[in-house]
Amino acid sequence: MPGAHLPQVQLKWPNPGSNEPPSIFNQPRILTMATRKLLLLPGDGIGPEAMGEVSKLIEVMNRDGNAGFETEEGLVGGAAYDAHGQSISDSDMELAMAADAVLFGAVGGSKWDDVPYEVRPEAGLLRLRKDMELFANLRPAICYPALAASSSLKRDLVEGLDILIVRELTGGVYFGEPKEIIDLGNGQKRGIDTQVYDTYEIERISGVAFELARTRRNKVCSMEKRNVMKSGVLWNQVVTQTHKAKYPDVELSHMLADAGGMQLVRQPKQFDVIVTDNLFGDMLSDVAAMLTGSLGMLPSASLGAPDGKTGARRALYEPVHGSAPDIAGKGVANPIAMIASFAMCMRYSFGMVAEADRLEAAIAGVLDDGLRTGDIMSDGMKEVGTEEMGDAVVARYRAAA
Ligand code: NAD
Repeated sequence: MPGAHLPQVQLKWPNPGSNEPPSIFNQPRILTMATRKLLLLPGDGIGPEAMGEVSKLIEVMNRDGNAGFETEEGLVGGAAYDAHGQSISDSDMELAMAADAVLFGAVGGSKWDDVPYEVRPEAGLLRLRKDMELFANLRPAICYPALAASSSLKRDLVEGLDILIVRELTGGVYFGEPKEIIDLGNGQKRGIDTQVYDTYEIERISGVAFELARTRRNKVCSMEKRNVMKSGVLWNQVVTQTHKAKYPDVELSHMLADAGGMQLVRQPKQFDVIVTDNLFGDMLSDVAAMLTGSLGMLPSASLGAPDGKTGARRALYEPVHGSAPDIAGKGVANPIAMIASFAMCMRYSFGMVAEADRLEAAIAGVLDDGLRTGDIMSDGMKEVGTEEMGDAVVARYRAAA
């Protein structure tokens, strides 16, 4: 049975031990509606190739199971710049705001290295995150047993690894003002970035982490640098207060972010959910990612706040990898990160937990069968291209119906 080889602890629906779904998933409008509106933004490089495999799956699901996905496609990144001179057009941005979820491929490439900063490919992604107010970035680091040998750490340290990093995405030093380079007039310049967090930002991101922990092993580790940063002191205080007021049943620990980085490579399985700010989350989630073997395997989700009336959250799902210009157009990209992002989309945006479990089990099954794209290839395995890997996952998914 394919799912038998997945790590034991999976995100579950509904909340184990309770009749109610945890409020992070509480989306009554989406759970009962007939159509599920998806905006596909394949982007640049390998983005369209990987997205093609998800489109295939969506088509099959609509045909076989009446899943009711309604898809539209837009341009983002360099592709949007070439067409409109913008990294995402206003009309595609409107589609994103109206969609139940956005699936994003990847952006960027040397072709657009010299375009103005404001319209560089990455600006499209930043605009989506900002306008959709996607403040919570979820990055699971799961080590499939079939791939444990390709981690840079020893097998016993990573086999069965299942960590979820919850990164604050819309605040902190990437957005704080002032943010500038000023001329000091003496031949020197000064570069300034500002790390800033307000109480509500820390409350809402830690709330997401606590809610998710309840669906897993019930542990949250909060990481900051309270020893040298005022924003770290506040972060620590607010997480502690939020825990005490609303989530006392969850086990909470605190760690300095640099020590957290060390612990991630020393003994990664000690963690369940890690919650941290934008900058530290950026780095720590990349460290955690590498524990699992390949960039081509890693999905992510970015969620907004629930709508007051409907409970639905804006959401964007994307693989962690970039546009991989070195292999773009060759048909060799690993589509699993993109497909696993779609599994997260079904789980978080549509409450399709059985389908998400089935899709993740199909991925594990295909790996157990020995199929590998070039990035995860090892001795004795069968090397396949993007389409063959996508077809195999779809076939496994259908077979498990
Ligand atoms: P990258 O993730 O594109 O590639 C890093 C390495 O991993 C490359 O050797 C690539 O071939 C390999 N790789 C990545 N995804 C793979 C997959 N699915 N299958 C097989 N191999 C895969 O990172 P990079 O090379 O640093 O950046 C390339 C471009 O992507 C740059 O323009 C960068 O700005 C952009 N980028 C975009 C995003 C995004 O869209 N969210 C994220 C990171 C980088």
